Amino acid sequence: RAKADGRNRYRFFDSSLDAAARRRSLIEQELALAVAEEQLSINYQPLIDAQSRKVVCAEALLRWTHPTLGVISPAEFIPIAEESGQIGAIGSWVLRQACKDAASWPDSIRIAVNLSSRQFLSPGLLPLVETALRQNDLPAHRLELEVTESLLMETTIGIEETLASLSRLGLRIALDDFGTGFSSLSYLRRYHFDKLKIDQSFISDLETNSDSRAIVEAVIKLARDLRMSVAAEGVETNGQFELLRQLGCGEIQGYLVGRPKPLDRFEQYLRDNSTSVQRLSA
Ligand code: C2E
Ligand code: MG
Ligand code: MG
Ligand code: MG
Repeated sequence: RAKADGRNRYRFFDSSLDAAARRRSLIEQELALAVAEEQLSINYQPLIDAQSRKVVCAEALLRWTHPTLGVISPAEFIPIAEESGQIGAIGSWVLRQACKDAASWPDSIRIAVNLSSRQFLSPGLLPLVETALRQNDLPAHRLELEVTESLLMETTIGIEETLASLSRLGLRIALDDFGTGFSSLSYLRRYHFDKLKIDQSFISDLETNSDSRAIVEAVIKLARDLRMSVAAEGVETNGQFELLRQLGCGEIQGYLVGRPKPLDRFEQYLRDNSTSVQRLSA
């Protein structure tokens, strides 16, 4: 009996593992068609200056709507695309499309594009970025590239050189999801970043958890002392916004300011908020 139970449990575990593996390989297969069949699109999410409330930046966030599987989250398919090598084609599509879309926005609004580790480490990155800027007549100072700490944990080879060449082009580099990786502080001494984006996990309980508040306060001060700008991700309440503003956080991103939107709706948002964003509500 015990043996039978054990076998059942094993079989149950095995088949759920199967389901995950099957979904994964299905996604990998379908992803190959996604670019060609125009299933991918980009949503733009505004970042505002905490003091003036002017829109200063927009983050490009990839969306995939599959004809039968429906909407698939980038949190699910980006890691798969990274491992399968498909991130190269997808990532260059996002970069070119985002630069093209942003070129017609006011000069005061930057475009932020996420880079996966693999993309960042690819020798094709620099020419890709240069071409995207040149072909769309986008000044480099309007482009921001977001990388995460996981990149810095992977390797040290070539990172300093790549960061330096990108900086030389005149664009800005942001460290995304700051605080969720390891030994962030040594990275800050070793590499040059223009901006820190404080991860939303520190923001969500900012008003109720004094530890989160202490960390956020320290990161803002650290960024300022190291002459980096600082943005908070995932700001959803007026209380969080006000606190961050008082603590000296430069830029605010989150549902309170605006959700990620398709291009046409984002451009309407820009027109509606061309002087500054007055209505804040998640
Ligand atoms: P991320 O770069 O940290 O982007 C911020 C994520 O937080 C986005 O999730 C955004 O929709 C979400 N967010 C923004 N404001 C709020 C808020 O107030 N509350 C909550 N709960 N969430 C908020 P999304 O769009 O699902 O993207 C997830 C992640 O997928 C991104 O995290 C990024 O790491 C990755 N990703 C998205 N697009 C790309 C891309 O084009 N290339 C690469 N390599 N990665 C991408
Ligand atoms: Mg990001
Ligand atoms: Mg982030
Ligand atoms: Mg995040």
